[in-house]
Amino acid sequence: MKDLDIVAGAGIWGCTVARRLAEAGRKVLVLERRPVAGGNVRCETDRSTGIEVHVYGSHIFHTHSREVWDFIRRFTDFNGYQHKVLAMYKGAVYHLPLGLTLINKFFGVELKPGEVDAFMSDPAHSTAIFDAFFRGYTSKQWGRPPEAIDPGIIKRVPVRGNYDTNYFNDYWQGIPSDGYNALFDRLLDHPSITVECNRAVTLGEIVRSDARKVYYSGPVDSLFDYRFGALPWRSLRFETEKLDVADFQGTSVMNYTEADVPWTRIHEFKHYHPELKDAMSAPATVICREYPKTWAPGDEPYYPVNTPESSALLARYAQEAAKVPNLVVGGRLGQYKYYDMDQAVLAALELDLGLR
Ligand code: UDP
Repeated sequence: MKDLDIVAGAGIWGCTVARRLAEAGRKVLVLERRPVAGGNVRCETDRSTGIEVHVYGSHIFHTHSREVWDFIRRFTDFNGYQHKVLAMYKGAVYHLPLGLTLINKFFGVELKPGEVDAFMSDPAHSTAIFDAFFRGYTSKQWGRPPEAIDPGIIKRVPVRGNYDTNYFNDYWQGIPSDGYNALFDRLLDHPSITVECNRAVTLGEIVRSDARKVYYSGPVDSLFDYRFGALPWRSLRFETEKLDVADFQGTSVMNYTEADVPWTRIHEFKHYHPELKDAMSAPATVICREYPKTWAPGDEPYYPVNTPESSALLARYAQEAAKVPNLVVGGRLGQYKYYDMDQAVLAALELDLGLR
């Protein structure tokens, strides 16, 4: 069976790898633990309104990589949606990220672009902003104070000295015009790709498999049956509800930055497709409250928690994985990396498939 490659896990990394393998002339069997492909990008359409519901929380495709953009655009058009995130703090609504709109409203000032740096270099100002918008949210999200997390995580949120309220700095962004599920269907729609869902893969199967390679993108600790202990993951709980109002919050994502509000954010999915006029004007909407939680066995892992201890544990699992000759581990869960979708695609595009 050396003419076969197996891709275990049909998230965006696995599907990109499967597509590359098929286009390179390989026969590919995609095995997916869940009943459908798409990983945590999977969506469901609300029947009566046509609203695309992001089952595992909001996913906005954004990238600065032309290679990624050119690849993904072979499988979908994008609707031009530009992501904005608002923040609710003490009953007032602010535009993230940290820029002139937020700073001027929060402090009741009228700073000009060139004045932001000097203003924010006053510790009283920077501390007030940090405590209002980052301390509470970060403590909820990560279950520990901001001082105890990798500073790179908070730096994901841009800081600007202008009125640009785009949440991402990336040049290309949007939501697939036909929805995310169609993107996955097209990635996997190739005569050399076979997909089997409801098919979890075990280490024993990989070791015994005749496949040339098995590309695995589930959690690396679970593949090895947690033999060194579980990696610390953050999990999430979603409370989704349909409401009989045309517009609940007027935007796609509202963050709740105070520590004593138990959810971190509310998603309102219809706002991701402003071009779908029927869904937008439907007298109903679908919202989802997102609650972070510590991962426990049986929960879905969403975020790696990078600490010196988790890095050491990850290295032990990586060593074990390297001992399995036909195993390649990748993706956000496999590599324990806080990948955005485009970074997972880029990693898959740059992966050496060993076919030369
Ligand atoms: N963050 C925050 N307040 C906010 C938004 C973000 O403190 O209103 C911090 C928080 O620690 C979060 C990190 O910035 O985990 C990255 O935010 P991002 O929106 O990129 O998180 P994601 O959408 O990936 O969950």
